[in-house]
Amino acid sequence: MKASKAMQEKLLALQALDSSLIQLDHKAKNLPVSKLLDEKTVAHATARDLCVAAETEKSDIKHELSKSEVDVEQVVSRIERDEKRLSSGQGTPKELEQLQHELGSLAKRRAELEEIELEVMVRIDSLDQRISSLSAERDALHEEVTKLAKEKDRALEEINRAKNATIADRTSLMNEIESELLALYEKIRASGDGIGAARLHAGQCQGCNLSINAADLSKISALPDDEVVRCEECRRILVRVS
Ligand SMILES: [Zn+2]
Repeated sequence: MKASKAMQEKLLALQALDSSLIQLDHKAKNLPVSKLLDEKTVAHATARDLCVAAETEKSDIKHELSKSEVDVEQVVSRIERDEKRLSSGQGTPKELEQLQHELGSLAKRRAELEEIELEVMVRIDSLDQRISSLSAERDALHEEVTKLAKEKDRALEEINRAKNATIADRTSLMNEIESELLALYEKIRASGDGIGAARLHAGQCQGCNLSINAADLSKISALPDDEVVRCEECRRILVRVS
């Protein structure tokens, strides 16, 4: 294929734009803020779930507490009833003795129940502390996630602006390149990791970075300027730049 030296050099300019587009896509996919955002999103979901679990546990324990409160009340009212009967002095000595005995057991039972109640209250206290620290953590993470999401959006917008400008430059440059040469370039670019044309520099193809042997190099340099050369290794268009 034949193409003027100037036309071949335009291919290199087009390649520079295409390489920029690849870099911009790579940048968009590998934003450091995206990684951080993913991490914080997971941490936020974890804190939120733990908070819900602690709240569920608290409501279960509160249920337990009201149950033991009822138990205590029942024992207390029995004690009051027994004490009334005892102070009235009515009943046989044996009955009064039994009452006294029962009051002893009831007092013991009451102490046990109150201890359980106290334990439950201590557990609720520690759960309250846990809930308040988890919800503070959850809220702080939510704020961070919101901030990072905005940062990511801004970074992507900036990349998109750069991409659009590059695409516009590419479109106008494409119109300056002969269609046959452009078609060859596009075909190679599609199958060659996004590189269709490369510079021949210091005896090396800058597409595959392989050195070209002296014999081939002298053959290439003997070709007329408008001859389109392909790299023997990677088959990319090799543009001779003096
Ligand atoms: Zn090559």
